[in-house]
Order: sequence, then structure tokens, then C-alpha cells
Amino acid sequence: MWKRLISIENLTVIGIILGVLTGYYFPEIALGIKFLGEAFLNILKAVAIPLIFVSVFVSISALSSIYELKDMGIKTIVYYFSTTALAVLTGIITVNLIGFGGEIPRSGLGENVTSHEFSLRSFFESLIPENIFMSFAQGKVLQIIIFSILLAVATLYLERRKKEVLVLFMDGFNDVLIRIARWIILLTPIGVFSLVAYVIADRGLGTIFSLWHYVVVVVFGLLIHAVFNLGLIAFIFGKVNPFKYFLKVREAILVAFSTSSSSATLPVSLEVAQDKVKIKKKVAGFVLPLGATINMDGTALYESVAAMFIAHMYGIELSLGEQIIIFLTATLAAVGAAGIPSAGLVTMTLVLSAVGLPLEGVAVILAVDRFLDMLRTSINVWGDLIGAKIIDRFTK
Ligand code: ASP
Repeated sequence: MWKRLISIENLTVIGIILGVLTGYYFPEIALGIKFLGEAFLNILKAVAIPLIFVSVFVSISALSSIYELKDMGIKTIVYYFSTTALAVLTGIITVNLIGFGGEIPRSGLGENVTSHEFSLRSFFESLIPENIFMSFAQGKVLQIIIFSILLAVATLYLERRKKEVLVLFMDGFNDVLIRIARWIILLTPIGVFSLVAYVIADRGLGTIFSLWHYVVVVVFGLLIHAVFNLGLIAFIFGKVNPFKYFLKVREAILVAFSTSSSSATLPVSLEVAQDKVKIKKKVAGFVLPLGATINMDGTALYESVAAMFIAHMYGIELSLGEQIIIFLTATLAAVGAAGIPSAGLVTMTLVLSAVGLPLEGVAVILAVDRFLDMLRTSINVWGDLIGAKIIDRFTK
């Protein structure tokens, strides 16, 4: 009984609660222990980058043919795009139904926004690695995935003896990294405690209330998508009870919440997917790394709501046509966002420019962005884990 109660998952929840309290009541302490959270985040990232590379490789080289890769790839992309689009739609419907209430303070307008503009062209250009070591050093996850896919596909054509050696080596490397991830998970209660305490101390809980109309709409939309849309999809296509499934994978969601980074959460997602919910290694190793960088339901929903909020703040009425443009660009902008903190804020410039909204609007929502980032990242990872379950079910 006691052993069950003091599981790492429960300690992580306690870590988050203590983090909020410490950040609020003892901000100095929270700021002073920031290094603990940073160390935790860094070690996660240190494992995540090589893990992305080897897990994609191992997963593809375990497939029997190119045909199987195509099959799994198409299913994954279909799931990712359709759920992301559904998330945006949920965001837009939520705004239309509940709106943002009355007057919105335009405080903060005119602050310098450091986000540079994001374009689809630069996104496509950024997919192609120029120097793979640079991609590793700079944590360019999509470039690493593309290179790893190339390498793995080429390996399928290798003479048998060489192929076996290479695959065995990468497989061993993969297992070793997962083992390290398991050790890091033991540290999550402390890591999340420090990360959450720091965010609360640094931003102050009060900022949430200053923009509460907007925060409520985002949170409500995210909840509907996570519980209703994704829950139903998990039930119908994954044949799992979403609540039980959530309890099994919650460690990954909690880490996503505290780190605001899908990529940094990847070692934990891969570990729970393989150990707790028994998803096949070849499926988890492909679907999750890809999902961590291109499947962002929470980000997509948030971007649509944020764009509509900015329009509202400037007193701009959005026509149906403009809302359709928001729907399309928010879906793409979420795909283009990297799995790191605040990435969604940068790619949102794509949505804003598409409908001619002032980019300075971002400055206003900046104050609450970190809090919303924690929530949207949790939904991003939740979407990935449900996707992995579904693809696993449909893959032999
Ligand atoms: N932080 C998010 C993630 O890593 C991306 C974003 O919305 O900023 O999934």
C-alpha cells in the first residue's frame, strides 16, 4: 500500500504542488534552486537528442520492408494532421461560443517582441541538414529525424552481415539510452519541483489573472480537446479506456507540463510507451520522436485562440473566411513549431500575418505564455501517446 502510494508518479505530483507553493510564498528560495531544474532539463535534453536519432533508426530498420515504412508513415501522418486540425477547430469553436468577455487591458503593448517572423519557406528549408553534426549540436530535431530515416532506409539495402552489425549496435545504444532515461525519471520529483517553483516565482501567479478571459478560453479549449476529442479517439481507434491510459502514461504528461518541451520529454514518453503501455518498440521509436516535433494539438489550439484574442483586443472582427485562414495556418504553424518552450509563440507570427493582425499583439499575451505553454505541451505529448497506441494497434 505505502509502496504504491509513494510511486514516482505521485511524488512528481507532490513536486509540482510544492513547486507552486514554494514559488508563490518563498520566491527567493525558488529562484535560488533554479539550477536543480536546469540540470534536470539539461540531462533530459542530453539523452533526447541521441535517442531521437537511434530510436528512429532502430524502428525503421526493424521493419520488414519499405512498404511497411510507408504504411506506418502514412497512418502516423494522417493521425497527426487530422487531430491537429481537430484541435484548431475546437479552439475556433470555443472562441465563437464563449468569447472573451468584456474589455481587455491592452497593457504591455509596445513592449519589444523578440519573436522573428516565421514563414513556411524557411520551415521547409530548415528540414534539410547541411552538416549533420551541426544539426546535433543545435538540437535540430527534424533534421536529425530526416537523416536517421535516410540512414535506416539505406541500411535495408545493405548486405546482411553488415546490416546485422549496424542494427545490433544501434539497438544496444537505444536500450542504454532508455536505461538512462529510467534513472533520470527517478529524479523527476525534484526536477519538476524546481522548474515549477521557478516559473511561479519568476512570472508571478498574478499575471494569470490580468488576462484571465483569454486564459480561461485556452484552458477550456485544451480540456475539451484532451478529454473529449482525444479521449474518444483513444477509445474508438485505440480500444483503450482513456482515463486508465492517462494514469499509466501520466509521468510523461507531468514532465511535459513542468519542462514545457515535448523534445525534452521524449526520453520519458518513450520509456512509458514501451514499459507501461507495452507499445511495440518499432512503433514507439518512430511515432513518438516524430510526434514530439510535428504533432502539437495543444499548440495548434492555442495559436488559433491567441490569434483571435489579439484580433478581439484590437477590435478587429474576423470574417468566416479569415477564421478559415486561421484554421489552416494554425495547423501548419503548430507542425512547424519545435518541441521547445515558447516555440508556438514564434510560429504564431505566421497565423497573425496571414490574416493581417498586428504582430505586436504577441507582446500582450507574453505575460501568460509560460503558463499556457506548460498546459499546451502536456496536451501535445498526450496526443503523441494516444497516436502511438493507435498506430500500434494498426501495425502488425
Ligand atoms: N512548448 C511546446 C512543446 O514543446 C511548443 C510550443 O507550443 O511552444 O511542445
